[in-house]
Amino acid sequence: MSQGKCVSGKDASVMAAADACVQTITCVPGYPVTEVAEALGAEISVNEKVALEIALGSSAAGRRSMVLVKQLGMNLLADPLVISATHTIGSGIVALAGDDLGPRGSQAQMDSRYFGLISDLPVMDPADPSALYHSILEAYVLSEKIKAPVIVRATSRLFGISVSSPERRALPPHGIKFDRSIWDLTALGRGQRYQDEPVPLAEDASEATSLNSLRISSKIGVIASGCPARLAENLDASLLVVGYAYPLPWRLIKNFLHLHDRVIIAEEPGPFLEGQLRAIEKVFGRLTGHLPMGPLDVRDLQRALNMDLGRDRVSAPKHVKSYERSADKGHKSICDDCPFSSLYKALGKIGTIVAGDAGCSIRAVREPYSSVDLVYGLGSSPSVASGLAGDDREKGIAVVGDYGFAHSGLQGLINAIWKGRDILMILIQNGVAAQTGGQEVPDLTKVLEALVPVRFLNFPEDGKDTKDVEKSLRDVMAVKGSSAIVARGKCPRSRY
Ligand code: SF4
Repeated sequence: MSQGKCVSGKDASVMAAADACVQTITCVPGYPVTEVAEALGAEISVNEKVALEIALGSSAAGRRSMVLVKQLGMNLLADPLVISATHTIGSGIVALAGDDLGPRGSQAQMDSRYFGLISDLPVMDPADPSALYHSILEAYVLSEKIKAPVIVRATSRLFGISVSSPERRALPPHGIKFDRSIWDLTALGRGQRYQDEPVPLAEDASEATSLNSLRISSKIGVIASGCPARLAENLDASLLVVGYAYPLPWRLIKNFLHLHDRVIIAEEPGPFLEGQLRAIEKVFGRLTGHLPMGPLDVRDLQRALNMDLGRDRVSAPKHVKSYERSADKGHKSICDDCPFSSLYKALGKIGTIVAGDAGCSIRAVREPYSSVDLVYGLGSSPSVASGLAGDDREKGIAVVGDYGFAHSGLQGLINAIWKGRDILMILIQNGVAAQTGGQEVPDLTKVLEALVPVRFLNFPEDGKDTKDVEKSLRDVMAVKGSSAIVARGKCPRSRY
C-alpha cells in the first residue's frame, strides 16, 4: 500500500504491525476485530486471558507482541493486564481493543477506555485509520519506554472508514527482554516505581503526541476523542482532539477550557472524558444531558452547540422513540441447513430452563426454536447450569460450542463436578468457532471423557427425527450426576 491510496482501519493495523516488526500476534475473534485479526494472521487463543499471557511471555523473550480482542474480551484479560503494569515487560505490547458501538455484534456495549483507569495503563484513542497507524507505532515506543503494555482503543466505526494512507515509518526491531531486577522491589515498591517513573512518562507522551490537534475559532469548543473528532471537524466551534484518552493531556485541556465559555465533549460510546472533566461547570456532554448516550452523529454535536446549555437538555435516550425489537429488526436464527436443528427443537420440548452460550446456541433463543433461555457470555453455560441445578439436585442443562468449552466452559464443568452439581452439558462439536467466521478450535473430547460419562450423537444421522433426539436427551437426563452429550456434526460454513 503506497502513500496516497485509501486505507481502512484493517489496512492501517496491518501496516503498523509490519512497520513495528511485531512478531507475536494473538487474538480472540469477535466483532469488530475478527477481520483485522485475520488480516494480521493473528493466532487464535482459547480465551483473552491466554491471548494476553502469550503476548506477555513473548515480550519477555524479546519479541514485540500484540493482542486483539473485542470490548467484552477486555474483561477476561483484565487480571494479567493490571498486573503487567507494575510487573514490567520486555519488548513492547499493544492491546488492540475493538469496541462494538450499538452494539451490533455483541451482547453488550462497553467502552474499553475505562481499562485505562482500572489498570493505569495508557489508552490511545485514534480518530481515523491514519491516526490508528501512528497510534500503534507510538504505542510500541511508549510501551518500551514505560515497560508496560499500551492499550489502543478502536471502534467498529473506525474499522469501517477509509482515509488517505499515512506516511509510513519503520521502528527498528528492539529485542528487549524482561529485566528480572524488578523483583528487587516488593509489590508496594513496584507500585511506587510505576507511579514515580512510567506514569509521568505516559503523561508527557499524552501532552506531546502529534496525534493531538488544536483549532481555536470560537468561544465555544469541542474536546474530542476517537472517531467523533471527525464529526466535529467542520462545526462552527474550536476543536481540541486528544490522542490519548488516558492519561489525558491536562495542560492542553486546561488551556482550552480557559479560552472557551463552554465546551462539549465528543466521544463514544460512554462519557469517559466527560467523567474526568465533569466537575468543571463549563463542560457539557452526556452526563449533563446535552448529548445522547451511545454512538454520536454530527447532528448531535450541532444541536448541543446551538443549545442554551444552561437550560436545554436532550431527553434521554434522545434517539429512541421505542426500543429496537428483534421482531422488527429481524434476527439470526439457526441456519436452515444446520445439522443440529433437530437438537435445538428437541431442547424446546424437554420443559426445563436451558443455559446457552455465545456461540450458535444464542440463535435458538427466539422463534422458531425458543429453546435456549439464558446466555451470559462465551463459556458461561456449564456454570450457569450448575446454578440452575442448585442444591436440590435438579438437572441443569447447558449447551456450549466447542470453542466456548475451550474458552472457559471447561472450568465451569470442573467446578460442577467438584461441587457435585448435577448438570447435562451438551457440547456442539462442529469443529469451528462458527459465530465469528469459522476459525479452528481444539478438540477436547478426550478431556471431557476423562471428566464425565459421555454419549455421542452424530448429526444429521442421529437427528433425523426430533423425537429420537428428545428421547436421547431424556435418557441422559434421567441418569444422576453430571454427564455430557457430544453432538458431532459438520457446520456447512466450516472452512476446515
Ligand atoms: S453450526 Fe453452522 S450451520 Fe449450525 S447454526 Fe451454527 S453456523 Fe449455522
